[in-house]
Amino acid sequence: MQSIEILEKLVSFPTVSKDSNLELIEFIDGYLSEHEISSTRVPNKKGTKANLYATIGPMEEGGIILSGHTDVVPVEGQPWDTDPFVLTEKGERLYGRGTCDMKAYAAIALALVPEMKRLKKPVHLAFSYDEEIGCLGAPGMISELKENLPRPRAVIVGEPTEMKVVTAHKGIVALTTTVTGHEAHSSQTHRGVSAVMTASRLIQWIENRAETLRQSAPTDSGFEPHFTTIHVGVIHGGTAINIISRHCEFCWDIRSIPNDDPQQIVQDFEDFCQKELIPNMQEIAPETGIQTRCFADAPALVHEPESEAVRLAKELTAETTTRKVPYAAEAGQFQQAGFPTVICGPGSIDQAHQPNEYIEHSQLEKGENFLRSLIRALS
Ligand SMILES: [Zn+2]
Repeated sequence: MQSIEILEKLVSFPTVSKDSNLELIEFIDGYLSEHEISSTRVPNKKGTKANLYATIGPMEEGGIILSGHTDVVPVEGQPWDTDPFVLTEKGERLYGRGTCDMKAYAAIALALVPEMKRLKKPVHLAFSYDEEIGCLGAPGMISELKENLPRPRAVIVGEPTEMKVVTAHKGIVALTTTVTGHEAHSSQTHRGVSAVMTASRLIQWIENRAETLRQSAPTDSGFEPHFTTIHVGVIHGGTAINIISRHCEFCWDIRSIPNDDPQQIVQDFEDFCQKELIPNMQEIAPETGIQTRCFADAPALVHEPESEAVRLAKELTAETTTRKVPYAAEAGQFQQAGFPTVICGPGSIDQAHQPNEYIEHSQLEKGENFLRSLIRALS
């Protein structure tokens, strides 16, 4: 099968992170079996999703892991001109959810499997789930890869970079904070604890801290923006204008440059709650409180100019420069596990997560050329 046919197939599985990716995994498994390659699944706890990895070529040290996530972001509320789960060609562009982020990379790798017959060093394919909701799926697979594979030379994560070499990304910590207040008539503010107003103080703390981080960050960190960001994206709370609110909840994320420790920020936030807010709240009503739950924590990818992965990607792309990106990816998790890792894949991040997401034919070709050079280097 050609890359484009496989891409059409992969796009047709609506693998939005909240849903199962098993049909897609089944397809990849079947395709690899047709080429006499066995694969291993690493399922989630409920068995509704799975990572999949497979080795092509000899089981030896010095192989390359090609890594990508199989899940995509939702399409709800986005004005698509075509069915997002039907690959639609218009001129130079191929439209569909996941075309650039990041099913094209998987499609190319799979399409080139028949060309991997004479490999002297292995290619390992590694496909994950739940990347888009905080890189939750990959760690289970990464620890198996670490245990089961003869030491690979490098990991190439195929997030869309237009085939430029990306050597660093920010980390992400995602959190939900729940404030429990105490109800009273809104005229009796001295008798109640407002969850909404407490949340507003917490958000103000977050904003102040974000400003401090912005001012103290080195301007040459190489990221855009160059500082660690903190952002509150969702808030729900209260039931009526004249009721002091019992409940307020907000979701926030910290996107950190490699020098900043996001857990320190969370710790300081926690200290502010414990020392400054909770004692006063509980004086009025003992059942009140503030709880913060971390639901995603993926490390930054740290720029290592001498890394084997960086050297290899520069060689294969003939790029002389490298870049850093602000979004989070699984690359930091691979690096943390001890694998030299780089990001390099077809398509542009500018089209990712958008309505009418697309990839250009020329990007597919560039991706194919890149992987063909890699196959040559390993044969
Ligand atoms: Zn992605």
